[in-house]
Amino acid sequence: MHELSIANSVVEICAEQAHGARVRRVTLEIGQLSAVMPEAIRFCFDVCAKDTAVEGATLEIVVIPGEARCLTCGATLAVDVPFGQCACGSGNLELVSGQQLKIRQMEVV
Ligand SMILES: [Zn+2]
Repeated sequence: MHELSIANSVVEICAEQAHGARVRRVTLEIGQLSAVMPEAIRFCFDVCAKDTAVEGATLEIVVIPGEARCLTCGATLAVDVPFGQCACGSGNLELVSGQQLKIRQMEVV
């Protein structure tokens, strides 16, 4: 399961950066186009966090909407699929945002 390995690396990174402190809150950014399901991450996070410094931490997930730039007319548009189409009719888009998956913030006790 894709989400399980992601959740596992998030827990590992947080536990390492906490340097022995307990992690209270983790904020994750998940791009809408990253094909990662936030609910699955949430479930796997709790499983992976067990018996680590991250156990019991609150997981906050911020979903970043997809955004692309049209290479034909230069417009920026919101996209909810990796291959959208610009209002000018061009499908020549460059994704700007929405594919990321990163730890935005972490709070330790
Ligand atoms: Zn365009």
